[in-house]
Amino acid sequence: MRYHTAVLHAGSNELEKHGATLPPIYQSSAFAQQSAESLAGIFENKAPGYCYTRVANPTVSAFENRITKLEGGMASVACASGMAALTTAFLNILQAGDEIITSASLYGGTIDLFRDLESFGIRTVFVENNDWDTIEGAINENTKLIFAETIGNPGLDVTDIKKLSELAHAHGLPLIVDNTTATSYLIRPLEWGADIVVNSSSKYINGNSSAISGILTDRGRFKWSKEKYPMLTDYVKFGPMAYICRMRATIFRNFGACLSPQNAYLNLLGVETLGLRMERQCENAYKLASWIEDNYPEIKVNYPGLESSPWNLIAKEQFTKGYGAIFTMRVGSKERAFALINALKLALKVSNIGDTKTLVIHPESTISLHSTPKQKEEAGVYEDLIRVSVGIEDLQDLMEDFQQAIEHIENTKGEE
Ligand SMILES: *Cc1c(COP(=O)(O)O)cnc(C)c1O
Repeated sequence: MRYHTAVLHAGSNELEKHGATLPPIYQSSAFAQQSAESLAGIFENKAPGYCYTRVANPTVSAFENRITKLEGGMASVACASGMAALTTAFLNILQAGDEIITSASLYGGTIDLFRDLESFGIRTVFVENNDWDTIEGAINENTKLIFAETIGNPGLDVTDIKKLSELAHAHGLPLIVDNTTATSYLIRPLEWGADIVVNSSSKYINGNSSAISGILTDRGRFKWSKEKYPMLTDYVKFGPMAYICRMRATIFRNFGACLSPQNAYLNLLGVETLGLRMERQCENAYKLASWIEDNYPEIKVNYPGLESSPWNLIAKEQFTKGYGAIFTMRVGSKERAFALINALKLALKVSNIGDTKTLVIHPESTISLHSTPKQKEEAGVYEDLIRVSVGIEDLQDLMEDFQQAIEHIENTKGEE
C-alpha cells in the first residue's frame, strides 16, 4: 500500500463485528474470559486474548498495528507518552553500569531523561550528530545502544541514519531513532538501518493535540546476545520477538505507563490524515522559511530544506517528500525573540509541535530550561532562537502574520 492508503487501511485485518468504519473504543479496564483455563492461558502467553488494559487493549492494539505497518516494523508497543515510550525502549535492555551514546541535539525532555537515568547507574555520552570519529571513539565495552533523532528538535540537524546504523552494527550495538519530527511520511528509519524507532504520537501522528501518547516499533532484526544484554536471557529464544516479548512481559506492564483506549482512538482518527497534513505542512514550512530567508537577511533561518542548512544534502538524500514542518529563526536577541513571538497574531504560543495550527516557542526559556549552558549550545538552543511548527493554514495568512510581526520588531529597533 502507498502512504495515503496505508494510513487508512494498513494493519486493520479484521472487520469489526457490527461493521463500524472506525475502531470501537474498548473503554474497559478488564476483559472476562469463558473459563479459569482460558484466563490462565492468556497469562501464560499461550493463548491470544485480552485480560487487563495495562497489559493490552483491542483499541490500543489497533493503533499499534497501524503504526507497525507505517514504520515498516514487526511489532509496536504504545505507551502513555513519548517520554514513556523512550524510557521503555531504553530500560528494556539497560542495567546499572551500561552506557548510551546519543547525538547531543535532542528534545529537552530526552536530555532530562538521560540525566534521570544517571541515578540508576546508566551513563549517557553526548556527541555531535554525524561526527563519526567521535561517536566511534566514545564506544566502549559498557556501551549498549546508540540513539539519535531523525531531525533533531530544535537543532534541525539531520541524522545520517544509514551511516550511523552501519557504525552501530559494526560494534554489535542497536540504533534507536526518535522519528517524531520527521514521521514515517518522510522516512522509515527501520528501512535505513535503525533497529527500533520511537515516536511521540502526541505530535504529528495525533495531529490535533488531543492526546498525549508515544509508541515504539521494533524491526525484529537485531541479534541480541545474552552475554551483552543479560536482561534478554530468557527471551532470546523468541528470536525476532525477543525485545518486544521481554518488554510486554516485564517493564512495560510493570512500569504501568500504558496508553488509554480513548487516546488510542484519537490517534487512530488523527493518523488517517497524517500524509495529507505532512504534505501541506512541509510545503508551508518550506515556503515560509524560504520567504523569510530571502526577505529578511538579518534573520538567520534554519530549515533542512534550505541550501543554507548544513544538513541539506543528507536531507535530500534521505527524504523524498519534504523536509519537515519545523524551522527556526535567530533574530538577534532574547528581547527581539520575545517581541516577535508576542507580535504574532495567528501562531499560537505553545510548547508543542505537529499541530494542525502553527505554533511558536522560545526554546531556551521553556523546553530547554533545565539544560546546562553546554547542553543548550550542543542542542542548538540559543537565546535569540524561535522555533516555528508550521500548520496547515493558508500560506498567505501565515506570511502576512510573520511579515507584520517581523516589521513590528524592525520598527521598534533602538526605541527601547
Ligand atoms: C515531544 C517529544 C517527545 C516527548 O513526547 P511526549 O509525548 O510529550 O512525552 C520526545 N521526542 C521528541 C522529538 C518530541 O518532540
